[in-house]
Amino acid sequence: MSAPKTLYFDHNATTPVDPRVLEVMLPYFMEQFGNSMSLNYSFGWQAESAVETARRQVSQALGCEPKEITFTSGATEANNWAIEGICEMIRADEGPGARIHLLVSPVEHKSVLQSAERAVRVFGAELEYIPVNAHGQVVVSELEKRIQPHTRLVSVMWVNNEIGSINPILEIARLCHDKKVYLHSDATQALGKIPVDLQNVPVDLLSFSAHKLSGPKGVGFLFLRSKSPKVALPAMMCGGGHERGLRSGTLNVPGIVGLGKAVEIARLEGEAEQSRLRALRDFMWNQLHASFPQARLNGHPTERSPNNLNITFKGTRVPAALKGLAVSRGSACHSGGTSTSHVLSALGLSESEAGQTLRITLGRTTTDADVLEAVGLLKSQIQTSSTPAPTASL
Ligand code: PMP
Repeated sequence: MSAPKTLYFDHNATTPVDPRVLEVMLPYFMEQFGNSMSLNYSFGWQAESAVETARRQVSQALGCEPKEITFTSGATEANNWAIEGICEMIRADEGPGARIHLLVSPVEHKSVLQSAERAVRVFGAELEYIPVNAHGQVVVSELEKRIQPHTRLVSVMWVNNEIGSINPILEIARLCHDKKVYLHSDATQALGKIPVDLQNVPVDLLSFSAHKLSGPKGVGFLFLRSKSPKVALPAMMCGGGHERGLRSGTLNVPGIVGLGKAVEIARLEGEAEQSRLRALRDFMWNQLHASFPQARLNGHPTERSPNNLNITFKGTRVPAALKGLAVSRGSACHSGGTSTSHVLSALGLSESEAGQTLRITLGRTTTDADVLEAVGLLKSQIQTSSTPAPTASL
């Protein structure tokens, strides 16, 4: 008997690799397995050339220079490096007495929040959270009020992974630029979902992870602006001098090749795919809202990622595990724990409302039929107060 089918609606947790991405990765596992630093023979040249192609694919999609991209193991590493690297850089330049004020949005991914907390312990940084509005977006006027002469870094995610709200990054970037404060943005859930153009948006550091965009797991990058301003971070890792000495360690060549292809596909096909997902997402919300009139959409109604629904099914009981449907109750990094998501708490949701909340995220493999089926599964399993309690089956 085959296992019952589960519909996957958790694309913000991770995505299946696009077959076109897998295809370009495969040769780099066996035939072209060289170390990209072994530059005395063809195996190494092939690997190096593949890595540089990927770097160009990324830079073309972002509107930046290839040398501004450093490959990492993912966004967690990139976020940690960005935040603690800025602190270390300032310490190295100005000595142990340097005052470092960090402004961070409270609805960031834990890899930003915990890294900022560590910067307090390790570098004596002063950490302040930027107020967000009811949709979890940074309020630019509140950010402006909080920027002080010793504010060194602002970290604001481009798109929130749980509630999908898009931050006003252009305005934030212009403000930070005017005030000469570095801006880091975690764009893990932005790239491929909305336009990300670093030529027009003066973000200084930007993180990404390939597996959120039909690429492989365990690979990502940090963008570091090379001029106006030049962000001269200390090395993430020291060792063999890979990645221009910034991040030593033998490169994950197949992963990097896959990341490059994933980003390129998104550059070429992103707009059409975003429109398709937006229409499907809106259809799904309208269907669910019609069946659950008390349901509330968390996050901004329109300034939101085209693939994201985060819904509190008020007045219902949402079963702990939904049969046939993979969705999240918060970010993937929360499931397994019982704590209310810090993002939903920041929006003012109570513990019981958080328990009625599902994050439903669509992706490239989601079809119209999947959406219809998922709506049916949700309608049959979420009990409203008027739904009779299910009778126990023996
Ligand atoms: N930032 C955001 C916004 C994310 O959604 C994630 C993945 N949950 C990460 C960072 C971390 O990515 P990774 O686990 O691939 O390093």
